Amino acid sequence: MAWAASKAFIWDAARINLPEGKKALAMSVYPEESAGDSAWRRSTEFVKGCIEHYSEKWYPYTYPVAVNVAGIVGGMEYPGIVFCSSRSQKGGLWGVTNHEFGHNWFPMIVGSNERRFGWMDEGFNTFINGLADRAFNNGEFYHPRDRHSLARMMFFDSAAAILHRPDVIRTGSYGTLGYYKPAVGLDLLRDVVLGEARFDKAFKYYIDNWAFKHPTQWDFFRAIENSSGESLDWFWRGWIINNWKVDMAAGNVSRRNDSTTAIQVLCLEKAPMPVVVEITEADGKTSRVNLPVEVWQTGGAWTFHHLSKGKVVAVTVDPDKVLPDFNSTNNTESCP
Ligand SMILES: [Zn+2]
Repeated sequence: MAWAASKAFIWDAARINLPEGKKALAMSVYPEESAGDSAWRRSTEFVKGCIEHYSEKWYPYTYPVAVNVAGIVGGMEYPGIVFCSSRSQKGGLWGVTNHEFGHNWFPMIVGSNERRFGWMDEGFNTFINGLADRAFNNGEFYHPRDRHSLARMMFFDSAAAILHRPDVIRTGSYGTLGYYKPAVGLDLLRDVVLGEARFDKAFKYYIDNWAFKHPTQWDFFRAIENSSGESLDWFWRGWIINNWKVDMAAGNVSRRNDSTTAIQVLCLEKAPMPVVVEITEADGKTSRVNLPVEVWQTGGAWTFHHLSKGKVVAVTVDPDKVLPDFNSTNNTESCP
């Protein structure tokens, strides 16, 4: 249990609207020193915002109250009550409030064991936090980053696999391997591999099936595959079970005849991914080809034929930078 008491607390509250007409109460308690208009005076709005979002998108909030306490810790979660730093403000206060209340879904509704499967607690929470960032107040605190720029932070040689128990992951890298990289992995499954609709249905299926139970990571893998109808062993193996890097590259581009160009795409590291290829012709016209992950089943090079009257002058793999590509300097092949 957790509680807080102070003569100095300002106490405010607002109604939380839950699915099917149910209601809960968001509350905040904070001292005068924290009560700025861009600080704790917005806390209750943040509590209400993230809980309404998670309840609508994933699973209804299960407690009658949600209390945010301004305290001395950076952030810590308990059922129905969380503590966030009294010094937090603006996007920092939104971020920590969103994160600590997100724990009501992982590991409080879905009872993952943080000591064994840390990534299913902090990582899953960080993932849903990102979707709440996009949704809250038209993305007021959402700052998208291209994934090429994230790759070097996530892939380093001493990194343990996400699958490892938290106590055997080096302390300094747990923020990346326990929180951030698993969240990016779920973003990839959603944005690149399954698509939003199929992923969200599968993730909700997992939550519905494992609410108030204690799933292992194998249960998670099976739930996502069962709902999506897709074998994702290649994804779990590369992203979760191993620390395999992603590096897609443009290979040879050769004009075969007046209308055909052979375009080679390379998967230089061990982790396969589906990849988009953008082809630019001499008149500036561009077209795109979506290569499914299956092209890498027989090796790390794939060649396809592009039909065009115009000469192909450039080929770019992953033009929108949706993959965490470890080396983006080899992604474009120019053929002037
Ligand atoms: Zn956390």
